[in-house]
Amino acid sequence: MKPVRVRFAPSPTGALHIGGVRTALYNYLLARKHNGTMILRIEDTDQNRYVPGAEEYIINTLNWVGIQIDEGVGKGGPHAPYRQSERKSIYKQYAQQLVDEGNAYYAFDTEQDLETMRERLKAAGDANQQYGSGSRMQMNNSLTLKKEEVDNKLAAGDAYVIRLKVPANQEVRLTDLIRGEVVVNSSQIDDKVLMKSDGMPTYHLANVVDDYLMKISHVIRGEEWLPSAPLHVLLYQFLSWQNEMPQFAHLPLLLKPDGNGKLSKRDADRMGFPIFPLNWTDPATQELATGFKESGFLPEALINFLAFLGWNPGTEKEIFSMTELVEAFSIERIGKAGAKFDIQKSQWFNQHYLRAKPDKELADYLLASLTSEGISCSNEKAEKICFALRERITFPHDLWEQGKIFFSAPTTFDEQIVSKKWNLDAVRTLSGFIDAIKTTQPHSADSIKSSLEKVTGELGIKTGQILQALRMSLTGGASGPDLMLTMEILGAVETVNRIKYALDNLKAKGS
Ligand code: GLU
Repeated sequence: MKPVRVRFAPSPTGALHIGGVRTALYNYLLARKHNGTMILRIEDTDQNRYVPGAEEYIINTLNWVGIQIDEGVGKGGPHAPYRQSERKSIYKQYAQQLVDEGNAYYAFDTEQDLETMRERLKAAGDANQQYGSGSRMQMNNSLTLKKEEVDNKLAAGDAYVIRLKVPANQEVRLTDLIRGEVVVNSSQIDDKVLMKSDGMPTYHLANVVDDYLMKISHVIRGEEWLPSAPLHVLLYQFLSWQNEMPQFAHLPLLLKPDGNGKLSKRDADRMGFPIFPLNWTDPATQELATGFKESGFLPEALINFLAFLGWNPGTEKEIFSMTELVEAFSIERIGKAGAKFDIQKSQWFNQHYLRAKPDKELADYLLASLTSEGISCSNEKAEKICFALRERITFPHDLWEQGKIFFSAPTTFDEQIVSKKWNLDAVRTLSGFIDAIKTTQPHSADSIKSSLEKVTGELGIKTGQILQALRMSLTGGASGPDLMLTMEILGAVETVNRIKYALDNLKAKGS
């Protein structure tokens, strides 16, 4: 087998969409699995769509998710430069070869000429009004003009593009590793522009030339590029590179959570989840889009989630580290059908990875929030709070949201619990309990529990019936972490103060 060399080839036209991260991931997994090479190539030949900061964003994203580049922009390598705008002269040479060998031609048509052509074809009932085998001989190009005229135009510096001369009515075939045989009639393909009038190649030419020169073994990319693949096959043939042609694998689309159509930024905004890996401020509008990272997703959770959007290991196992993904990955197990972007599932993965962290690491998140709130707290206390909350969190910021109760006493109380549970039994128990707590040693969850049970036992009240009132007196709310542990963390004095405050401020039903 020839060495595996894959490339992630994004265009720096804005923030990298989450689907792009999946494409990078699948390339990376294949490279690592076969001890191959992962290349980052920046396809920036479309100057009109170039967005400053986008390239840096791509690199930051790959770093954050742990996709390591072996060759490419920011890394260098034997095929440098890896930024297409810096390779202009290379493409020019191949465009020239195509022209010289009669597989491409100069076209001098103006916008107006093209418009007139479309109208003419439309009027003649042609379904796709393309510049191709059916129409090129009526146009203003080196196939219709005399050689001398063409030379004069070129010498005079007239604007021109180079177009591929796509043959009429031929079968163009390729085998896609995911979709199988793809056959297209060449008459469906228009004479694509290969070189633009600004001297820049188009995506098609630059992409094929670079994949060949960089010895790419597999082209793994989104399904939206499938329609371009037959054109690329023609280019490989015309350049006599068909034996070196990479294998193609076009990944399934990412669909909206309900499976109805392609996932877009608009859907994500509407449903309140991120679509970009990192925060992105649109340089044109200054609009900020929150990233997965800043929303609290862990890179390992995002990777695990993305790996499953289109691929599965064929077993029940769902939790995979990057190393395990490398081990299990194969292109054969990528499906054709679009993958639903199930945001709940991404949260499930995040919960899993967050809960697997030691208390000490979780405490770092909590301590960071506390510092920004101006609250001081010992490491030991922060770790205990994280221990109490770990089963209840999905994102690191939940530690602060749910851990607030340990730092500020409630001043209002859940009305439903007040009306349903704050009764004479609760008041009697809690009154007795505050005295018991003062003498409970040590002030630990276990001994607090025994003290509480002793009080209820003496009063002949079932402990279970007053627990909600107790929780509410301590936190104001109806739910939260383990109650005995909550009191242990609060400490005896704070526990007593909070219960007293509730007793003083709430009137018991029946009193
Ligand atoms: N530059 C293309 C993109 O932005 C790359 C497509 C391909 O991988 O061939 O996605």
